Amino acid sequence: MASATGWGIKRVINAIIKSAALKLTLYYLATIMGLSLGFSVFLYHVSSGELDRGLRRPGFVISNGVSSASISGSDFEQFRQDRLEEARDNLIFNLMVFNLFILLAGGLISYALAQKTLRPIEEAMESQSRFTADASHELRTPLTAMQTEIEVALRKRNLTTAQAKAQLESNLEEVIKLRGLSEGLLKLANGGEQALNKEVISLEDVSIDAMTNLVKAAQAKQISIENNVKPAQVFGDKVALTEALSVLIDNAIKYSPTGSQVTLAGGEVDGNARLSVTDQGQGISKKDLPHIFDRFYRSDQSRNKDKTEGYGLGLSIAQRIIRLHDGTITADSKTGKGSVFTITLPVSEQK
Ligand code: ADP
Repeated sequence: MASATGWGIKRVINAIIKSAALKLTLYYLATIMGLSLGFSVFLYHVSSGELDRGLRRPGFVISNGVSSASISGSDFEQFRQDRLEEARDNLIFNLMVFNLFILLAGGLISYALAQKTLRPIEEAMESQSRFTADASHELRTPLTAMQTEIEVALRKRNLTTAQAKAQLESNLEEVIKLRGLSEGLLKLANGGEQALNKEVISLEDVSIDAMTNLVKAAQAKQISIENNVKPAQVFGDKVALTEALSVLIDNAIKYSPTGSQVTLAGGEVDGNARLSVTDQGQGISKKDLPHIFDRFYRSDQSRNKDKTEGYGLGLSIAQRIIRLHDGTITADSKTGKGSVFTITLPVSEQK
């Protein structure tokens, strides 16, 4: 169903881009042809003027060494007119061939250029529509579950207060999840560079704040977090960077067994500021690793077997934040052994 809608949207985008490409091609071609025709008219006037002057020049050689000086009067004038007409016809023919060539070559080049111009717009439109389709798909599942539960409860004739309360609690759980999802979607959809409040901050502080955010979640699974982050200054938004690091620590806790350890490390390395989160968890398979930063991507294991909570948005949000700080975020993992996520940021020049 979702993919059918996806194909429908793709077809609409293709049609829009095709018609825009055609219009753009016509604009480009009209410009090229305008220039070419203008140039041809100019060339025609200059050349025919030159021809006229050349044929009038005394001593003009007609053929076989016979000069204009040797024939005179009306014969010469007639001959001169004929030659002039002939030369003009030749010129017009050549200019028409030239313009026809420009029309064909210009048409092809214009179409190629129009497609090149529109490609980034097409990609942006496709990514936007994929985002909307994925988001509505993710929203539909919990909403449908909630709707069914409520309908079943309402159909019960003798719904007890306890049952109604249990129903409301279950609905509240879904609503909290949906709120989390909509907040995640908003974070991905809104706010670029201008939404950040950048200043010189210490990575150590970022790591402490992120750890504080997740102390309770770690305690709940008896996971100990070791913080070995050394001082390093970066120019960034503390709240946003703390959020990115929190995503990594949260995942490390979520995808690790009870009683394991999560280690934060970092500092200034090779002129860059580094932050890494290492866990002893389930790891990520080679098949999943290239996709984990994609929006809504969750490994089958997290989706089905373990049923770990999440919508596959955390790493996309973290990556977006890090990219807005001109940094990179990478993952390395061994299935069954654990994962290491590393954030690399430019060190701040200001101290
Ligand atoms: P979510 O955790 O909400 O599913 P994320 O975008 O944070 O979304 O992560 C995407 C997927 O990457 C997860 O579903 C999980 O399969 C995998 N993943 C992320 N971090 C880890 C980790 N530390 N260990 C194992 N798998 C991970």
